Amino acid sequence: QAAVRLRSVTRSYGKDASAVTALDRVSLDIPQGTFTAVMGPSGSGKSTLLQCTAGLDRPTGGQVFLGDTDLTRLSETKLTLLRRKRIGFVFQAFNLLPSLTAEQNVALPLRLAGRRPKRAQVLEVLERVGLRERAGHRPSEMSGGQQQRVALARALVTRPEVLFGDEPTGALDSTTSREVLSMLRSMVDGGQTVIMVTHDPVAASYADRVLFLADGRVQDELYSPAAEQVA
Ligand code: ADP
Ligand code: ADP
Repeated sequence: QAAVRLRSVTRSYGKDASAVTALDRVSLDIPQGTFTAVMGPSGSGKSTLLQCTAGLDRPTGGQVFLGDTDLTRLSETKLTLLRRKRIGFVFQAFNLLPSLTAEQNVALPLRLAGRRPKRAQVLEVLERVGLRERAGHRPSEMSGGQQQRVALARALVTRPEVLFGDEPTGALDSTTSREVLSMLRSMVDGGQTVIMVTHDPVAASYADRVLFLADGRVQDELYSPAAEQVA
């Protein structure tokens, strides 16, 4: 069962002579419970691929399916709701709200999804990332790795079908980065689907599959035995 399917997805910017094709007829199936890394040189289309797949940008051609839903057919309003309910994001800059505690940051997506946050549920997710005892701390009182784990908890609290990472370890040192990657890996082993853009080959080695983009196309891909290889 595919969590995500892309069918001949194209994204171009501008018109005519000055047009840039950021994605060029990309077709892909991402099975549920797999960890995909997207690599490639700057300008190869990685962000565009992530954004189009996550419903943050609209392709100029083709279809993007999340489960059975064709994102390209949804109105802006429905797309926003879908993102809030069915998709999680982690970014390079953790994007936590500085004035809120870890617990309040994690509760936020539930509020955005129109649900009333249950304290036990929020604390349970913080427990999963090993930060239950930091629930009352603000971001400035935590290390970079801890902040990214809070961001991970925030992304997971709505139980998203797919978790998207845009260089999620880009701001972390190698030790902390491995902690976050092992955590992502164990979430995938528990059935979570993860798609992550990264420049870091070590990060990519935690994935089951690495897609190499060049000029808006999947130029190459690699399937790895993942987990045990990097343990
Ligand atoms: P990557 O993430 O691999 O660096 P991007 O997806 O950001 O690549 O960009 C792919 C191509 O699309 C590049 O040529 C980039 O300049 C172009 N591009 C991206 N966003 C825009 C935009 N908003 N307007 C015009 N061109 C864009
Ligand atoms: P808008 O104000 O345009 O509705 P959103 O609040 O939906 O913007 O945020 C833009 C996108 O980034 C959405 O898809 C949202 O789900 C995602 N996003 C932003 N911040 C977070 C966050 N902290 N946790 C999860 N998703 C986030």
